[in-house]
Amino acid sequence: MRPIYMAYGDRPREMTLGLLTASDTASFVPQGASIGIKPNLVVADSPERGATTHTEIVAGLIEYLMEHGFRDISIMESSWVGEGTGRAFSLLGYHEMAKRFGVKLYDLKKDKTRTLSTPAGDMKVCTRPLDTDFLISLPVLKGHCQTVMTCALKNSKGCIPDSEKRRFHSLGLHRPIAALATVLKPRLILVDSICGDLNFEEGGTPVQTKRMMLGADPVQIDSFGCRLMGIDPKEVSYIGLAAQWKAGELFTEDDPVIPVNDPGGAPAYPKPSGLVSRLTKNVRQDKACSACFGNLVHALYRLDHRPTEPICIGQGFQGQRFEGIGIGRCCSGASCTVPGCPPSALDILKALRKR
Ligand code: SF4
Repeated sequence: MRPIYMAYGDRPREMTLGLLTASDTASFVPQGASIGIKPNLVVADSPERGATTHTEIVAGLIEYLMEHGFRDISIMESSWVGEGTGRAFSLLGYHEMAKRFGVKLYDLKKDKTRTLSTPAGDMKVCTRPLDTDFLISLPVLKGHCQTVMTCALKNSKGCIPDSEKRRFHSLGLHRPIAALATVLKPRLILVDSICGDLNFEEGGTPVQTKRMMLGADPVQIDSFGCRLMGIDPKEVSYIGLAAQWKAGELFTEDDPVIPVNDPGGAPAYPKPSGLVSRLTKNVRQDKACSACFGNLVHALYRLDHRPTEPICIGQGFQGQRFEGIGIGRCCSGASCTVPGCPPSALDILKALRKR
């Protein structure tokens, strides 16, 4: 029996404490362990916009751990390519929080790496999360424009260097994400599903889903997250691959889901609207980085007409010459290129408006 604990509401600190207390988390963290907390700060943006972990969840978790005698606590993260983790730390109050609790704060973009052998080949992983005794992942349950959804497994992508993030995209994301789970294993997962964006990884259209979950297996948590979102886990290849490579086990009907408070008027879990698929119908994508693709999707969202020319994006277009609009440095062979790596949503929007 592998329970998932579920809290309902929109009060992150109280929900966090409720989940940790009900699951008696302190009893399975080894005394004296070094604890690493990995939130999702993919971009420097408010959690209310649906992309990042609520800061109060991190604070509630630290409060709980300290009350139970744990002192060696670090927060660690690396935002996506093109975003400075320090900007996210500043905007979301991490410096003040680290000072208040006396915990360490690490930008993993500056961390050393170690090369590990995985089922998808050698992979560089940041040393801090690898060397921490008890890694706690705090993902946001969200939609993702390339992998359909993102939660615990993909949150670990913030523990690799930017060069490796780009390489993950060149490998099609799914295999490397699953392979990373075989070498970097969070011991606890606390999911922020209070107002995740069910379409965009980088937020902007949050949906009030008013839930948090706690579990210990990222494969189980992600397959359960799919179920909540009305997605067949088979649509998200990295989940099945991670299970196949024994990084965890899929959620089954036998796994109990234990509510820790009264669901009250919690809404039924809304389904993703399919907005991204509609917006990107005419986009040819080949190994595009998340930041690049996400910026394009945002630009298309704001555009009041659909360009008639083909739009190409991704590392797969490097060195090719073609007619149409190319997004980013990789598509410099297009008849019209939006420069940058990644180009901003605003620059893409300005270019598309002229077509
Ligand atoms: S241009 Fe875009 S797809 Fe190419 S490497 Fe840069 S961010 Fe990635």
